[in-house]
Amino acid sequence: MSPKSKMANTNPISLSNNLKIGGTDIVLMAGPCSVESYEQTYAVAKSMHALGLRVIRGGAFKPRTSPHAFQGLGLDGLKILRQVADEFGLLVISEALGVEQLPLVAEYSDIIQIGSRNMQHFPLLWAAGEQPKPILLKRGFMSTIQEWLAAAEHITTRGNQNIILCERGIRGFDSSTRNMLDVSAIAHIKTSTHFPIIADPSHATGRVDLVPAAARAAIAAGADGLLVEVHPNPAAALSDGDQSLPLESLPAFVDDMLRIAAAMGRGLI
Ligand code: PEP
Ligand code: MN
Repeated sequence: MSPKSKMANTNPISLSNNLKIGGTDIVLMAGPCSVESYEQTYAVAKSMHALGLRVIRGGAFKPRTSPHAFQGLGLDGLKILRQVADEFGLLVISEALGVEQLPLVAEYSDIIQIGSRNMQHFPLLWAAGEQPKPILLKRGFMSTIQEWLAAAEHITTRGNQNIILCERGIRGFDSSTRNMLDVSAIAHIKTSTHFPIIADPSHATGRVDLVPAAARAAIAAGADGLLVEVHPNPAAALSDGDQSLPLESLPAFVDDMLRIAAAMGRGLI
């Protein structure tokens, strides 16, 4: 079976500006782990725009393991992200941590992210299902594929069918990497469900030196997109600097991904 005939199973999610996730083109979503300032977000968006990328990510409400770590700028972060995205005609993806934040994140974002730690936060899934914005549902880092698909169904049964799944690595026994990218899961979702599936090689590896290889593997396995952390100055990042691509390496990264996409008979935007 050719990659193209496998893709026929996927129901693409249509966004504004004629962008589709799960169509022929692989969608490279990029941006900082956390929105930290207007200047930081502007620098990322400017580079993305120059490369023809269309969706900027950035956390405003951050699910941090430690309560002492930076928790995000909240509403101010969402406002910065929206303003900068509109300046460059980009779409926005950002995370909602709880039911009470969902309307706010929906107001400022084009895609609402539900993070790994919240994959089985059922009231959040139900609320996500009762509103129309597309949901990026990350896999829980200790969840099976069946639990993940059941979580997606908690959303669809409430009405919202616009779900993009995201494989972001699962917890393994080896501390050399932050998580283990489950490439088989990408192939499995792609061939056996109608959901578009993207991969997050940043959280999967936790290491910037491994991000390109993991991203190549994800595309080769059939991923419809990537969610990649990028920062103008990773050493000074307030979260996830170790796994963030420096902005100046983004053009080479895009070139690298374009080659793998082409080998799969796909474009990349
Ligand atoms: C993120 O995308 O910044 C994030 C917190 O991801 P995850 O939920 O996969 O840990
Ligand atoms: Mn992060």
